[in-house]
Amino acid sequence: MDDKIRLDVVTPYGLILSEDVDELTAAGSEGEFGVLPGHVPFITTLRTGMLIIKRDGKTEYVFVSSGYAEVTFNKVVVLADSAERAEDIDVERALAARKRAEERLQQAEKVDFARATAAIERSTIRIQVAEKRSAK
Ligand code: ATP
Repeated sequence: MDDKIRLDVVTPYGLILSEDVDELTAAGSEGEFGVLPGHVPFITTLRTGMLIIKRDGKTEYVFVSSGYAEVTFNKVVVLADSAERAEDIDVERALAARKRAEERLQQAEKVDFARATAAIERSTIRIQVAEKRSAK
């Protein structure tokens, strides 16, 4: 199917998504990028962010932590540390993770600043993606 893109989202926890889509937008480390069928091949690293997927007139949102994306003619493979579809996000868990990381940052000593800020970023974006559920 030349008019579709096969999108696979793979994490160490398993295959999160594998479907034919019309277009997608992802958070590359150099900025957001969009992919349509027939895109020139490239590989990029990804920031923690959201994948926005369009299929049959519907939009789906997926949380993706850092990783990379490989784009070929009509296939995109996203390899990420973790990923969840909007409807699979546990908002309470994300809120608790954010609170824990914020509390860690309050401690004056022995704080792994990068780790705590990355945890805050993951939880904040998870909450944003979960809020998109109703926007379908
Ligand atoms: P936590 O501290 O809550 O574990 P985390 O950001 O450290 O959050 P990750 O290391 O990114 O978690 O992910 C570990 C596993 O847990 C992955 O399978 C991921 O999909 C899942 N996961 C993490 N947070 C959530 C959430 N809020 N809702 C659903 N699944 C989650």
